[in-house]
Amino acid sequence: MGKAAQAPDTSSISRLDQIKISQYFGCNTFSERTMHERLQRDVYKAYRQALKRGEPLSPEVAKSVAIAMKEWALEQGCTHFTHWFLPMTGATAEKHDAFIAWDEPGTVIERFSGGQLIQGEPDASSFPSGGLRATFEARGYTAWDPASPAFIMEGPIGKTLCIPTAFIGYHGEALDHKVPLLRSMDVVSASARKALKFFGVDAGSVVAQCGPEQEYFAVDLDLARQRPDLLFANRTLQGAKPPKGQELEDHYFGSIKERVLGFMQEVELECFKLGIPAKTRHNEVAPNQFEIAPIYEAANLASDHNQLLMEILKSVGERHGLAVLLHEKPFAGINGSGKHVNWSLATDEGQNLLEPGHTPEENLQFLFFLSATLKAIHTHGGLLRASIAFAGNDHRLGANEAPPAIMSAFLGAQLNHILDAIEKGAAADASTQKIIDLGIGNLPRIEKDATDRNRTSPFAFTGNKFEFRAVGSSQPIALPLTVINAAVAEAIDDLNVKLEAELKAGKEHKAAVMAVVKQAIVETKAIRFEGNGYSEEWKQEAERRGLPHAKDTVAALHIWEQPAVKAVLAKPGILSEGEQESRLHIRHEEYQKVINIETQVLRQMAETQILPSITADLGARAETLGKLAAAGISVPETLKAALQAQATLAGEAQARLTAMKEALAAAEALEDLHARTAAFGNQVNQAKHALRETLDALEDACDADLWPLPKYWQLLAPLV
Ligand code: ADP
Ligand code: MG
Repeated sequence: MGKAAQAPDTSSISRLDQIKISQYFGCNTFSERTMHERLQRDVYKAYRQALKRGEPLSPEVAKSVAIAMKEWALEQGCTHFTHWFLPMTGATAEKHDAFIAWDEPGTVIERFSGGQLIQGEPDASSFPSGGLRATFEARGYTAWDPASPAFIMEGPIGKTLCIPTAFIGYHGEALDHKVPLLRSMDVVSASARKALKFFGVDAGSVVAQCGPEQEYFAVDLDLARQRPDLLFANRTLQGAKPPKGQELEDHYFGSIKERVLGFMQEVELECFKLGIPAKTRHNEVAPNQFEIAPIYEAANLASDHNQLLMEILKSVGERHGLAVLLHEKPFAGINGSGKHVNWSLATDEGQNLLEPGHTPEENLQFLFFLSATLKAIHTHGGLLRASIAFAGNDHRLGANEAPPAIMSAFLGAQLNHILDAIEKGAAADASTQKIIDLGIGNLPRIEKDATDRNRTSPFAFTGNKFEFRAVGSSQPIALPLTVINAAVAEAIDDLNVKLEAELKAGKEHKAAVMAVVKQAIVETKAIRFEGNGYSEEWKQEAERRGLPHAKDTVAALHIWEQPAVKAVLAKPGILSEGEQESRLHIRHEEYQKVINIETQVLRQMAETQILPSITADLGARAETLGKLAAAGISVPETLKAALQAQATLAGEAQARLTAMKEALAAAEALEDLHARTAAFGNQVNQAKHALRETLDALEDACDADLWPLPKYWQLLAPLV
């Protein structure tokens, strides 16, 4: 192991080509390398061992690590520490404490105990718990997650040690996104290890891996601050289409403008210091839309890092005069942003279980895990859909650009052909020769060329991993990852039982595996779809196939509410029924709040900014026409008619504004949680949309000098 990374002195370097990334990667983390250098050998070994096996640290080991961490943090100049966690708000939470304690009266010293490292007790009553915690039992605990390295957050004139933690209630109930993710990783590891034994592989553990590709928009900060909708709702609630949108498709992979490149480079610098393996940067399809993708990591690390990345994007953006918009649909009529959650399983030795192998044996194993994943998506497509259901994502899913709301899997022509052959072939008594005949003996490496990629599929196999493309750009990835892990674990368990039975019945190994794989292939055929997921025909075809189609959040949450659906998380102890109910409750409330805020903001914009501007415009023009007439210039009827049309439209806008206010009041008055969610999703959203239509039309007719808001074309103009 090499030397621990040193922080680059960025004050003295003007260009990053003067220092290699590897020299400072992770310098702001209490990394394994740093631990290796600073911990006693046996302590380090015990720490590694516990991590590898996914077991908790013993108190003695935890204490030694804590002491070393404190010394390191103080040496780095940290004055404060915080337990950093992911409550169910979806944002990260932190409460900073200085390292100081009283020594003698009047003097302070730096102090930090092992206990403070391992466990914190934030006042948890203000975080959403969905009714899990009665207020008299408001205590929650944050517990250090040793698999995620502590890191240093640099402030303007000081540093803070951040300790990634899980957030749990007094009775051990999960109050955050990390706990279920960690539980699901243990569950899928156990199931996959068991399966691997059938293939003669004795893995220490199996790790769910993830590489989340993050899309975002960046717009000029000064302009964004002039729009209440961008400030408070993170998206534009009104805005006429610009004369040129993304029609020319000249932005995707286009050359990155210098201002944006400078911003991206600083984002990457911050990422590298925190050990976030940022790998790819490029322009996305829509104007001013971009993407950053890291190298994959263990799913829990990828989740923490994605949360950090979203914060880095926003804060570095502000330093560069850019507002980074993570919303799923900041601009109507222009592509929205998502997060491609790439997922796979690998042994602790690094063998990717979704990588086609070199030998028939390896390929049998690959087919086993592939068909288990298909089975997971087939059985739990509804829950998977629910895991990404929230107001922001409703604008994308099924809206003819992002993956449709129907969960299907894309495998590509080669694999499909093989799976079809297995289904038709006499796989039950497959000998090696038969396997080779079926094309399994020498599975082709799946080429990642563009022709074989289907961007319309929500769950696509891309050579050695699945890519879940329906996740929203602002959303924590922890829950979708939890659901994938849980569903795949359940499917593997099912195949394990069947395989064991086949073997017990005396079937030869290959034939037994093929029988189980074949059955899974037949059962899951309905979710395999290679065609255009955006097409109307697919919606009808999917209905014929009996696939769930939750068009919006309301419908998706309804699926999750079914006891049979909850079982996949409840049975293995990932989230109990109660924990799931609390999450569902939070989702309902969050959905209502988001739409409520949007409606209030739009009301205010319409009432206090847009409609007054329109009447001012009308008045000014009418006055001008009057002056023309007074000067003896005949005013053409067409000009009068245009003004009349604008006045009529303004009247329509006023009527729709009233209708929107009424719809909001009616929704808020509903007692029943579900009825309220449905009213917000239907009547309120429809009223909001109707108002927006007239406001957009008014914008197109209004004197540009009088229009009170930055326009789409200004926000989407190239950033120079
Ligand atoms: P794209 O899908 O944009 O063409 P890639 O396929 O190269 O790009 O990778 C996209 C993301 O998938 C990256 O974050 C990468 O680290 C991640 N990834 C690659 N292999 C795996 C894997 N085995 N498991 C999980 N994620 C992976
Ligand atoms: Mg991708």
